[in-house]
Amino acid sequence: MKGEFLSEKTKATFWKVVLEYRKKREKALLRNNLEYEKFREELYQIKKKAISEIESLKEKAIFALKENGINVFEAKDAKEAREIIKKLSEGKTKIIKSKSNVFNEIEEEEFLADKELTETDLGDFICQIMREKESHPVLPAIHLTPEEIVKKIKEKFEVDLEPKPEKIANFVRNLLREKISEAEVGISGANAITSDGKIIILENEGNISLVSRWPEIHIVVSGFEKIVENLEDALKIVRASAIWGTGQDFPVYVSIISGPSKTADIQNQIVIGAQGAKEVNLILIDNGRTKLLKEGFEELLYCINCGACLNFCPVFHQIGRNYGSKYLGSKGVIFAGFSESLKEAVNSNCFACTLCSACFENCPVKIDLPKLMKKLRSLMEKENLQTKENQEMIEKIRNFGNPFGKIEEGKIPKKLYCC
Ligand code: SF4
Repeated sequence: MKGEFLSEKTKATFWKVVLEYRKKREKALLRNNLEYEKFREELYQIKKKAISEIESLKEKAIFALKENGINVFEAKDAKEAREIIKKLSEGKTKIIKSKSNVFNEIEEEEFLADKELTETDLGDFICQIMREKESHPVLPAIHLTPEEIVKKIKEKFEVDLEPKPEKIANFVRNLLREKISEAEVGISGANAITSDGKIIILENEGNISLVSRWPEIHIVVSGFEKIVENLEDALKIVRASAIWGTGQDFPVYVSIISGPSKTADIQNQIVIGAQGAKEVNLILIDNGRTKLLKEGFEELLYCINCGACLNFCPVFHQIGRNYGSKYLGSKGVIFAGFSESLKEAVNSNCFACTLCSACFENCPVKIDLPKLMKKLRSLMEKENLQTKENQEMIEKIRNFGNPFGKIEEGKIPKKLYCC
C-alpha cells in the first residue's frame, strides 16, 4: 500500500462525523417520504437512461444552451480544458472559484499561477491557506482541527481568533466579501445540465450564488455525464445529492442558470448583463469519459459526486486521500485508469480495495464499484501491471495452491497476504 495512514485523531473524527451523517441521512429520507431502495432504483434508472443516450442528449443540450446565450466549449482532455479557461480569463487577474470536483480533476501546479485565484468554499479556502489537499469531496477540511486553523489564520492574517467554527466562518466570510467584490471571473462546477439548456448548481454556503453572479464572466466546468433529460430528473439528483452528501432534506440554495443575466426594463429592449454575469461559458469535459463508455465502465458516469461511498469505505478510513487520485476512493482509482493511465490507477492503491461492497450499498445511483474494480484489475493483469506483492501472491497460488507459498508442517509462513 502506498502512502501514510491517517492519524488516530483524524480516524476518530471521521467516524464520529460519518455516524452522525448516517442518522441524518435516514431522517432526511423519512421526512421526504422516500424509501431507500426505491429511490436508489429511480435514480439509477434516470442515470442509466441518460448515459445510454448521452450522445443525443449532449447534442440537444449544446444546441439549447447556445440558444439560451451560453457559450459552450468541448474539451477532449484536461489540457484542452485548461487552455479554454486561460483564454476565457485572458487579461483578467482576479478569479474566484467555488467547489468543483471537475476543476480539481483538470488542475495542475502552476495553472492560473499568474492570477489571484481565491477559493470561496469555506473548507476549500481553509485547505488553500493551509496548503493542504482536500480530504473529502464534501468535507474537504475534516482532517483539520479548529486549533490548527486559527493558528494558520494568525500566521497568515495576524488575527487572533477563538478556535470555534462560527468564529472562523465569520472571519472568512468578511475576508471573502472583499475578494468577491473585486472578482472579474467566477469558476464553478455543475450538478446537472438539462437537455433543454439549463445548468443546475446546488450549495449550502451561498458562495456559488456569488461566484456565478457577481463577476462579469462565469465559467462552468463539467463532465458531459452531468447531462440529463429534463429538470424533473435534475431536481431528483439535487435532492439525492443533499440526502447522500450531507444528510439534508434539500440543499440551502439551488441555482438554475439558463443564460447570462438580462433585462428588458427599458423600452422592452433586451440588454445582456443586468446584475448577474454578462457572459456564461460552459466547458464540457471528456478526459477519459468516452473511453469509460467504450470499455464497458459506463456505470462510473452515473456518479453524482456525493462522497457517500467514501464514508463507509474501510480503506478510505485508514489511508484517506492516499486511496484514489484526482477523485478519491474506488471511484477515483477507476477514473484514473481512464483519464490518466492504468499505471496511475495502480499507484492510487487499486489493490487496497477489499471488494467489501460498502460503497455499492451506500451509493444513491447503485454504482457497483467492486464489480468495476475487478474489471479494472483484469485489465491491469493483461498489461502486466500488478504490484510486486500481488505478482508474488499470484505466483504462489499458481505454484502452491495458496497465497503463502510453500507451507511446512508446524511453521508459520513468512509473509501473510490478504487475498
Ligand atoms: S460512486 Fe456513488 S456514492 Fe460514490 S460519490 Fe459517486 S454517486 Fe456518490
